[in-house]
Amino acid sequence: MNKRLSTGLLFTSTLLALGGCSQAPVAQQQQPVKVDVLISSAQVYSGDGSAPQALDIGVCGELICAMSEQGKVSYVAQKTIEAGDLIVSPGFIDPHTHSLSELLSKDHNANLNYLTQGVTTVVNGNDGAGAVDIAKLSARLASNGIGTNTALFVGHGSVRKQVIGLAERHATSQEIGRMAQLVDQAMLDGAIGLSSGLYYVPGVYASTQEVVALAKVAAKHKGIYDTHLRDESTFNIGFGQAVSEAIEIAKQADIHLHIAHIKALGVDVWGQSTPIIEKIEQAQAQGISISADQYPWQASGTHIRSAVVPKWVMADSTSAFHQRLADLQLLPKIRAQISENIRRRGGADALLVTVADDKSLNGQTLAEIAKRRQQSAVDTVIALVKGPKIRVASFNMSAADIENFMVQPWVVTSSDGTNGHPRKYASFPKKYRQYVRDKGLLSVAKFIAQSSSKTAKILGLNKRGMLKVGHYADIIIFDPKTFRDKANFAQWNKLSTGVTTMMVNGQLTIEDSQYNGGLFGKVVNE
Ligand SMILES: [Zn+2]
Repeated sequence: MNKRLSTGLLFTSTLLALGGCSQAPVAQQQQPVKVDVLISSAQVYSGDGSAPQALDIGVCGELICAMSEQGKVSYVAQKTIEAGDLIVSPGFIDPHTHSLSELLSKDHNANLNYLTQGVTTVVNGNDGAGAVDIAKLSARLASNGIGTNTALFVGHGSVRKQVIGLAERHATSQEIGRMAQLVDQAMLDGAIGLSSGLYYVPGVYASTQEVVALAKVAAKHKGIYDTHLRDESTFNIGFGQAVSEAIEIAKQADIHLHIAHIKALGVDVWGQSTPIIEKIEQAQAQGISISADQYPWQASGTHIRSAVVPKWVMADSTSAFHQRLADLQLLPKIRAQISENIRRRGGADALLVTVADDKSLNGQTLAEIAKRRQQSAVDTVIALVKGPKIRVASFNMSAADIENFMVQPWVVTSSDGTNGHPRKYASFPKKYRQYVRDKGLLSVAKFIAQSSSKTAKILGLNKRGMLKVGHYADIIIFDPKTFRDKANFAQWNKLSTGVTTMMVNGQLTIEDSQYNGGLFGKVVNE
């Protein structure tokens, strides 16, 4: 009859061309189309940012095999899910997580804290810390069984550590050659690109040209360059210069630049979101491909030593670190730099201990701990970093900068999930609740696009991130009224609510809001 029905038929014939499960010839459309699972909803968001449509979606095996206007094509399905007014969307893709320890574990490999956020694919290996041996890691993940898909970066920091150790110096050309070989092999083994953490040890010791050389190798394999900038604040070269360095690397290596968890960190750079956005857009106008991701929280999360101890103190080895901290000649300089770093991050009140072996520290700010110990904040830090690693939430971002970055068309949703920070359990639902439902800063369609198709495009996952015939059936259904974050800084590990149904690679993994125990994720790079 109308144009929309013929669209339905077109999709169905695409199904037949794909060799899906239906046996019906194209000419006999009155015959029901056979699919494994049929999802029917009045609110289907394809993921590309367009308005929702009332559609039927057929899944055959691991793929989406049919899409048609709701009720216009007859289907025979082993299982039919009537979603009513619930939202049907592509499964979300998180481009920055730290979830490998869960995925490789025996009891948390479902990655449930991501499934319940609507996330069907997570990226691992960010911040320069990605595995060097991608083949071995992929095999371990596959044999363990994983609940979400995962894509992997090879890490510049890990490669550098393997070749140079933690020495504070530039690489020789021979060493760069060895690092390039490792990156080359990792890309052949399925890495989606190269990540760097130029703020962290040992990435901080690398020159720009070292990173350019390795990014060129990733570019040769159509990978991307994902970076935790050298500086998101005024720690070393400054936020603006760090963005310029990343752009320069992308330009010289002819590679897509993805800026991890974009933020203006600390009082010194609050308000810089606007000039940074201009800088990025100028580079884009010159033909450099650039994107970024962002988590919707005012606090970042890291180890207290990474947050405030100068990087030169951490060079070489743990014993060298302890020697420097005990060196009376060096201590005045160390103290002054720690003091300055605490100030940058908003003071000792803005650093909250979240995960410490000494449980009495959890939930206390650095200021509170210092007062209890009757020490200065700086001496408290020096005492604490001599013990086991301590995680902190660092409240260092302004709400205005967060919103400014969030609405940019090249910014997508991420979690950067780490223990101690609710972002690991609640980033996607929090962004939806706070910025879509409560504030109206983003439309539902834009939020979904930022959490699925745009991310897939950045990462080169060409058959994910959209509801489209021929794509993998990573599909979520969520209730717009109950999709929300439950975790917070007092209880960082509470699961989010509202995802009623989820499919990963065509297999149901959440049904009636309950996780069914399925491990249908794969290591993916397309
Ligand atoms: Zn990072």
